[in-house]
Amino acid sequence: MSLTNVRRVGKLAGILLGFAVSTLACSETPPPTPPAPTPPAVSIANPPIPVAPPAYDNICIQSQTDRVPVIMYHDVIAKRGKGSVWFDCTTEEFAQQMNWLVTQGAHVVSLDDLYKHLTSGDPLPDNAVVLTFDDNYQGFYDNAYPILKRLNYPSAMFVHTNFVGDKKSDHPKMDWDTLKKLDVEKLVTIGSHTQSHPDDMRKLPLDEQEKELSGAKEILERHMGHPVPYLAYPNGRQDNTTRDLARKTGYKMAFTIDNGPAEASPDILLVNRTIQTRLEKVWKECHDAKMYAPAAVAQFDLNPTPVKLEIAEFGGVRLGIVRGGSPTTHHSLVRQSVGQFITDVPGGVAGINGTFFADARINGADTTLIGPSQNPTDTTLVPDLAEDRLPRLINRPIVLWGPKKIAIVPFQPGTMNSPDPFKAFMPDYTELFLAGAWIVHAGVPRTTEEMEPFSAGDFSDPRRRAFFGITESGEIVLGASLDVVDTAKLATAAAAAGVKEAVLLDSGFSTSLCYNGKVMVSGHTSAGLASRAVPHAIVLTGTLEPPTDAEVLAAFDKADGMIIPPGAPGSETGPAPATTHHRRKKRKRTHTTKKSNTDAPADTPAPAPDSPSNP
Ligand SMILES: [Zn+2]
Repeated sequence: MSLTNVRRVGKLAGILLGFAVSTLACSETPPPTPPAPTPPAVSIANPPIPVAPPAYDNICIQSQTDRVPVIMYHDVIAKRGKGSVWFDCTTEEFAQQMNWLVTQGAHVVSLDDLYKHLTSGDPLPDNAVVLTFDDNYQGFYDNAYPILKRLNYPSAMFVHTNFVGDKKSDHPKMDWDTLKKLDVEKLVTIGSHTQSHPDDMRKLPLDEQEKELSGAKEILERHMGHPVPYLAYPNGRQDNTTRDLARKTGYKMAFTIDNGPAEASPDILLVNRTIQTRLEKVWKECHDAKMYAPAAVAQFDLNPTPVKLEIAEFGGVRLGIVRGGSPTTHHSLVRQSVGQFITDVPGGVAGINGTFFADARINGADTTLIGPSQNPTDTTLVPDLAEDRLPRLINRPIVLWGPKKIAIVPFQPGTMNSPDPFKAFMPDYTELFLAGAWIVHAGVPRTTEEMEPFSAGDFSDPRRRAFFGITESGEIVLGASLDVVDTAKLATAAAAAGVKEAVLLDSGFSTSLCYNGKVMVSGHTSAGLASRAVPHAIVLTGTLEPPTDAEVLAAFDKADGMIIPPGAPGSETGPAPATTHHRRKKRKRTHTTKKSNTDAPADTPAPAPDSPSNP
């Protein structure tokens, strides 16, 4: 289903199922408590009353369809003089910036619109941008507001209440009458900027922080006569304590001065904001972000068809492909062959190596996965705890699914290293992994240039590469290249094979595609070499539909078995392994390692980790 379709269906569902959708769509209003169920025939003293989970009110998965810049201004002055500071903006500069936004086709949206977008996924118009002003300057009213009014651009003013009406300094502040007038005219949202504008909230004792936050809110609400739910931290400075206090005192959304699109913010109470001198820069960053990583939430109904094998050329690349079945993921505490993973899963009929792992050295034993993961044996999401790695994982695709649906979304390290947003988005999801790069989106292969921010050192190396994909009808596609290719060529081939969306799996020596007991693609171009043992695999369960094509049948007959019986040649007691077999119980890691390192033929890619840990 295309994104547009997802939205369309979402809208329709919203009309039909207002209650259910408000629960799923992380609405700010908690859903009504469902009526208590009819007591069962068997008497129970205190039948449990089902309680709806609390509504998710943080930055939600659905908001990842956009990248919105939030701009921060301070005073807007007639002209620069003795008392002006570098972050002042002259009326002329401000007018130029607004004209520039007009020429860019910008749609300036309000804080309420931004909040609904971030927490409920409400779509915003194209080229949405938010304008905010700090410190309640009279210069806003005199110089900026007339321009904003003419353009009908909404904005926000963050007010430090102790200074309202202060006309003494070079930068006089608006008084309550002016603020009230702005509030009544509705184009400006009045927000809180604390009472006394402490230089650094983190340095204040808890009770003083609380007083600054709740005091300003109360005073503003008293003067405006309605709730004031938005806050900007003075100088953007805060920590977890300040953020939690802001939440506790009733703020729904708060702003820092960290650069970046709003959707990439680490919390709804820590929304990114960029100073106006970087307007054109952040505008471009947001547009680039959409190009480099699809700002999209691709979602499909799973459609488990019979499991079929294909070997054919797609887009000039020979691929081994397994289509159909129901996918499951598995994370093992020791590295093992894909064949072993398949054998361990009841009903497993095919599979492929999974995602990237932290230490991909051939002789490494580490099984830590890169990015958060959740497998059916995990009780909850396993976060990636490597703080230094997380920023490099931004916008890489997260694949998640449950019994009925599957989705791909760009990863945001601040909000998605926990299960909450995923539960709010797909309450029955059971598995999730972070892939190396989103290589096909909306049926279109992504180019080298588009994937560049996600490239590891070996992104363009020729190697056998693996992908996980899904077709428009919701059929799973596991693919691996029999030719050695770079990532862009794999993307072209995957799209030619009919996938709507596809992501890059660990590749090179890890590549291993198995079907019905046979290894159909291994990480080596020469026969007789085992793929690298891996800690993660995707296994398909379902009904096998045997191949009928003569060429596929011949390849299948010729292929090595994925498991070697104990004692047979290739087992730990026999000569060199002829397959991806890697006996888990014996942990003969060094066995595979030795063969892989020493027997690598000239056309086999170097054993560099094809890993996003070093993008
Ligand atoms: Zn300020």
